[in-house]
Amino acid sequence: MADGTRILLFGGTFDPVHNGHLIIARAAAERRGFGRVVLIPSASPPHKPSAEASADDRLAMCRLAVGDDPLFEICELELRRQGASYTVETLNAFRRQESEADLYWLIGADMLADLHQWYRAEEVVKLTRFIIAARQPWRDQLDPIFQALAEHFPPDVIETLRGGVTDTPLVDISSSDIRCRVAGGEPIDDLVPAAVADYIASHSLYR
Ligand code: ATP
Repeated sequence: MADGTRILLFGGTFDPVHNGHLIIARAAAERRGFGRVVLIPSASPPHKPSAEASADDRLAMCRLAVGDDPLFEICELELRRQGASYTVETLNAFRRQESEADLYWLIGADMLADLHQWYRAEEVVKLTRFIIAARQPWRDQLDPIFQALAEHFPPDVIETLRGGVTDTPLVDISSSDIRCRVAGGEPIDDLVPAAVADYIASHSLYR
């Protein structure tokens, strides 16, 4: 049963947002009973080199990707903040805005191994519960990752993290592959919503 007081937050560079993001977010929302999914494009990702497309373009593509789908909302908080985007600050801002809500944070399982390196990670795991979208090949490799994380987080946090693992479909799409394809003149129609493909073409992004 979907419940509006439980919000699934989904941060990413979204450079560009693609069908993989939308499919796993929808699947996680269905499996875990979320009625609200909030996409949060990051300003400057702490773990990655800077985005290629501007903040405005990435935001515009997120808006086009979700259209008027009532499941999705877009949050501009990180884009409007100066400097790097830290999840702990975003979560604190959400806490202030949505004091009644239970906040969950969706990540792909490929992000799990580095969780302890997130800025103020011990606070992050108290502010939110992670929903971990387990795409292959990561699903088979989660045990050693949890064992390694146990060096950095207490047992109750590890148990909660394990409880967040959620089966999502395997979608072999990444933003970096899409950028390469566009640069190489290859089609991306099956990889992003049509409105996003049109936007990339008409704004000559990733060339
Ligand atoms: P890049 O190829 O530039 O690294 P990306 O496609 O991984 O980008 P991000 O915006 O960095 O996209 O990802 C945001 C979140 O979405 C991350 O938690 C990532 O693990 C997850 N994610 C991205 N693509 C997929 C996918 N195909 N299946 C499941 N999770 C995904």
